[in-house]
Amino acid sequence: MAQNLPSGAGPVAQVTGWVRVVLDVPLPGPFDYRCDEFVTPGMRVIVPFGRRKMIGMVIDLPETPAYDPVLIKNVEVVLTDVDPMPAHWLRFARFAADYYQRPLGEVILPALPMALRSVAAYQGKRSGGGPVARLDQRSPPVVAAVQASEPPALNEAQQLAVDAMTGATGFQAFLLHGVTGSGKTEVYLHAAAHTLARGRRVLMLVPEINLTPQFEQALRARLEPVAGQGGVAVLHSALSDGERLRAWLRVQRGQARVVLGTRLAIFAPISDLGLLVVDEEHDPSYKQQDGLRYSARDLAVWRAHDLNIPVVLGSATPSLESWVHAERGTYRRLPLPARARDVTLPTVRLVDTRRLSMEHGMSPYLLDAMHKRLANGEQVLVFLNRRGYAPALHCASCGWVSQCPRCTTFTVLHRMTGGRHQLHCHHCGYQQRVPSACPDCGDQDLRPMGRGTQRIEEHLAELFPQARVARIDADSTRKKGSAQALFASVHAGEVDILVGTQMVAKGHDFANLGLVGVLNADAMLFSQDFRAPERLFAQLMQVAGRAGRHAGHGEVIVQTGYPEQPVYQALLRHDYAGFARHSMQERESATLPPYSHQALLTAEARELNVALGFLQSARDAALALLVRDRTEELITLYDPVPLRIVRVDNMCRAQLLLEATHRPALQSLLRQWLAAMHDNPDVRRVRWQLEVDPLEI
Ligand code: ADP
Ligand code: ZN
Ligand code: ZN
Repeated sequence: MAQNLPSGAGPVAQVTGWVRVVLDVPLPGPFDYRCDEFVTPGMRVIVPFGRRKMIGMVIDLPETPAYDPVLIKNVEVVLTDVDPMPAHWLRFARFAADYYQRPLGEVILPALPMALRSVAAYQGKRSGGGPVARLDQRSPPVVAAVQASEPPALNEAQQLAVDAMTGATGFQAFLLHGVTGSGKTEVYLHAAAHTLARGRRVLMLVPEINLTPQFEQALRARLEPVAGQGGVAVLHSALSDGERLRAWLRVQRGQARVVLGTRLAIFAPISDLGLLVVDEEHDPSYKQQDGLRYSARDLAVWRAHDLNIPVVLGSATPSLESWVHAERGTYRRLPLPARARDVTLPTVRLVDTRRLSMEHGMSPYLLDAMHKRLANGEQVLVFLNRRGYAPALHCASCGWVSQCPRCTTFTVLHRMTGGRHQLHCHHCGYQQRVPSACPDCGDQDLRPMGRGTQRIEEHLAELFPQARVARIDADSTRKKGSAQALFASVHAGEVDILVGTQMVAKGHDFANLGLVGVLNADAMLFSQDFRAPERLFAQLMQVAGRAGRHAGHGEVIVQTGYPEQPVYQALLRHDYAGFARHSMQERESATLPPYSHQALLTAEARELNVALGFLQSARDAALALLVRDRTEELITLYDPVPLRIVRVDNMCRAQLLLEATHRPALQSLLRQWLAAMHDNPDVRRVRWQLEVDPLEI
């Protein structure tokens, strides 16, 4: 007999014999159960599955079950502590499952807070009505009231952009193309306030929240007066399970009128949505890299279309995908061509490292500029996208280089607290003591090869003994709250030289930073990935955009051995449009995205041959489907190839790329292909996954 748990009463619908349920299991599903209680789609149920009990979600109430009723088990508990998930949300989850070719249960359940999908949270002594009731009994944490702030008067370009957004009557995708410091945040805030005033809600996605607490502060200061105290909910992956449940419930119950979050917040069950914003829409962190490999930006556009509301994609360096939409007129471009604070964009200079003798990897030109800025009381940012002390350790006499025993990569030299060094693998986490002598020839003269942020920090401290040097990268910010504390000290003027990886490039409005030095940008120049130049350009524009934001006269010095490369030439002129034009021509002539659509099948196995064999059989199967359907013309199947770093954690990796000029043909092939994947003779010997619209190839 099923029994309801005590709870707030949700809307209940009809009595039915059968319910169709999705579960977070790697089986196609859905699964049918018998249920003699009131249920509606969108409600959670506890059901037996194999020998376990699991929480699933009802997605349908079929008239007849899909298999023999005798075999069908009963729903054990109908959970009513949370209102049923709304129809628009279920529709959205269904689309994501279809588009990314995943079972619906693997989309729906991971989108819920942990406690709402864990049977354990509803069992045992501590049950007491379940996690929601327990949370409601506790008093909510006191949210410090944020001082309301007055908006600045918008400039003309900002006003035009806001007017366009607030004037939209239904679905419209806007590409807010604003140079760094052009005041995109103001535009979002005005459009959001307008949406709230009309009684609708707002969902705003940002790439990172931890790094930019000021953004959350600004948003709350401006929107809480309209949305009400506590009307802004924040959702991101660094929240504890409890914090996440609390924020999520405020959204689900309609108490939050603004949701600010990272990519996972695209699955927030917010109703009456009137505006969707994706800030820094080009940022790779919108792409989920495991499980359901979705793009939150692409899903945002679909969700806005489905709800018939405007969506704003903002960036100084839009993704080529979005730019091409704007060129074709399917997205409406809204330019913010100048900085909002009446200051010019920084001057960019390229320093040709082939012609200069360097001091610890830094040119005399850069060091000289640093001295001047520091003497002038300004801050300097040194950007190097490589953490650790040195990318490897090597033996000068025999050429030995430190290598990970589990991966085909070098191990990175790190300086640990206390000053001793260790070798770390950035791919599998392997750690090792530094050998006292070369394992190959016994020579004791082992040296660091190249430079990482730690080593640069050390050099800078020697070269600028008066300056306060700080480093921000994944290593210096491991402890919760440490990134915020470090950034706060930079904003407070307690740091003179900041050394950092791309963590420092994102979104910060530094008031007193005059100079940005970029070391070793070339590392990304010759990658195999066709998106590498686009990514490098975006990263350089972002980090360059940190200079001179308030006082003007900013300067960016880029050290490169290839100053003639188009990406550097475009950077010199702050010429996104020119760079985009150049890249679009390249992509179009090679029929690469956005002029084609891709899917990537990846396989891992202990032996490379097994992974390649699996992919070859998969390729044969795909080809057979294409021949049968006469769609060979529409889809290109490439040959299986090993990944550049072929072995990681003792697993060998290979991939198979599919490319299509026609998206529906690709989607239809993928569906049939996946359904038949278990026929692949090697399927049990590999771990495989399929990615639609892969970002990295
Ligand atoms: P972006 O996100 O486009 O790089 P921000 O939103 O950080 O730029 O804005 C850059 C700076 O300009 C911020 O210090 C912001 O307060 C300021 N600002 C924005 N709009 C205006 C305006 N209309 N008048 C004056 N200052 C503004
Ligand atoms: Zn040696
Ligand atoms: Zn490794």
